[in-house]
Amino acid sequence: MSFRKVLIANRGEIAVRIARTLQELGIVAAVVHSDADADAVHVRSADEAYALPGVTAGETYLAGARIVELAKAHGVDAIHPGYGFLSENAEFAQACADAGITFIGPTPAVIRAMGDKIVARRTAEVAGVPVVPGWSGAADEVTPQRLEQEAQQIGYPVLLKAAAGGGGKGMRVVRSKREIAEAQAAAAREASAAFGDARIFVEKYIDRPRHVEIQILGDAHGRVVHLGERECSIQRRHQKIIEETPSPALTPELRAAMAEAAVRLGTELGYTNAGTVEFILAPDGSFYFLEVNTRLQVEHPITEWVQRRDLVAAQLAVAAGAPLPFAQADCVPAGHAIECRVYAEDARQGFLPQTGTIVHYVPPEGPGIRVDSGVAAGSVVHVHYDPLLAKLSVWGRDRVEALARMKAALRRYVIVGVTHNIDFLHDVLAHAEFAAGNTDTHFLQRHEVRTASPPPDIALAAAALASQERPAQPAGRGAIERATPWSDAGGWRVADTGQNR
Ligand code: ADP
Ligand code: ADP
Ligand code: MG
Repeated sequence: MSFRKVLIANRGEIAVRIARTLQELGIVAAVVHSDADADAVHVRSADEAYALPGVTAGETYLAGARIVELAKAHGVDAIHPGYGFLSENAEFAQACADAGITFIGPTPAVIRAMGDKIVARRTAEVAGVPVVPGWSGAADEVTPQRLEQEAQQIGYPVLLKAAAGGGGKGMRVVRSKREIAEAQAAAAREASAAFGDARIFVEKYIDRPRHVEIQILGDAHGRVVHLGERECSIQRRHQKIIEETPSPALTPELRAAMAEAAVRLGTELGYTNAGTVEFILAPDGSFYFLEVNTRLQVEHPITEWVQRRDLVAAQLAVAAGAPLPFAQADCVPAGHAIECRVYAEDARQGFLPQTGTIVHYVPPEGPGIRVDSGVAAGSVVHVHYDPLLAKLSVWGRDRVEALARMKAALRRYVIVGVTHNIDFLHDVLAHAEFAAGNTDTHFLQRHEVRTASPPPDIALAAAALASQERPAQPAGRGAIERATPWSDAGGWRVADTGQNR
């Protein structure tokens, strides 16, 4: 079985990237788009595009029922959800199946189970995978008194986490007994607003941890393989911005142990399609299960670089029922890859998302350089969606070469018209501690990398352009007026809106 037409239920760079593989495989690439995205790059890159009236994520990219209707009306065989939006929505996966359309991802049951971090922790324990010391209980058991008791047992600091969490939301670090009640209320409130599910649990807060994750891939014939690790320790607001593989922190033994744990969990779950098992790695070398992301990950290009494979093509193959197109022994990584997430955000203002019109856009090119762009010159960056503009990834024979290539590529990357984080990314990579591989999830707070001014060539390009063209909106303006970035945009894993039914 193979697909003739696939609908991509997403936007931006990931929709463009999925369309590319579909077209290479001779499959018709269809997309949906909001009113605001009628002229977006992802629409132009597709073979067919169906309008979703409205502009907010809830009205458009999260409107599952409407998307399934469109898919049926246009003879779509399968839906690829990308990441974010409906990608980890079990009801949507089920609605696709009910309509006779293949959902490109794991089964609804697996998505549902892994979408609940409490269930995921239990499943990991059953599979013999180490979990962060912690405690979870039924909703009525989770009182401040009980949490205090459990936190005492676990030892401070602890982390309160939302069972339904995602995108770094609904998390609170608690350093002493006094802070518990207030942190519990805040975490529950945030979780309730973001996910429609206020349940929280408590974990030991691992100090100076690294985030290391394993890519897995399963087929419908019971086979699960791994494609190595990605280190994603450079984060702001518990969200990744720079990723690399291999991790500078792993010994061959540790790498094998983590990969084996991920495959064991995947096998226990009967996992199908692409997934990522996230771990936290403590400075002493012990590692603990964090969660499973039941979808294609933002940072999948670095795995594609070192494995020389197309993960979307593999997803399509197993979704169509084929056995995995390769064996574990064929998955031998080569070289080093790094990814930087290029965001419309202001690193000097707490990474506040920015809006505006891109008047000039010149991504870097060259051997070992890949740019997954969701924008081009003329693109409007809206308040309604995630401010990710593009992902720049590079390959080198080793880490030193990859790092040099990335820094040079960032210096050549020109985006004019909207404030972006390219200069900030460059400063992080240029830091001696990054070069030494001494990263952990507190890297940015500890080193306070704060770019004073853009690197000279970008500033020059911007100045040169400014004299030729008049941006519709001056660069650097248009900060989004809202208390917390992402507080309402994107609808990340919103389970409660009912809009997807
Ligand atoms: P999300 O679903 O929001 O991605 P995760 O559980 O994957 O939530 O955690 C996101 C990030 O938060 C991790 O990459 C890590 O930086 C931090 N984190 C999560 N759990 C812990 C912990 N127990 N100790 C320290 N940091 C943690
Ligand atoms: P991954 O584990 O794949 O790296 P992330 O947690 O970083 O996933 O988030 C995936 C994508 O969704 C990123 O582009 C991120 O910026 C975006 N995202 C995360 N949280 C939200 C949110 N609340 N609203 C909109 N987009 C979000
Ligand atoms: Mg995570």
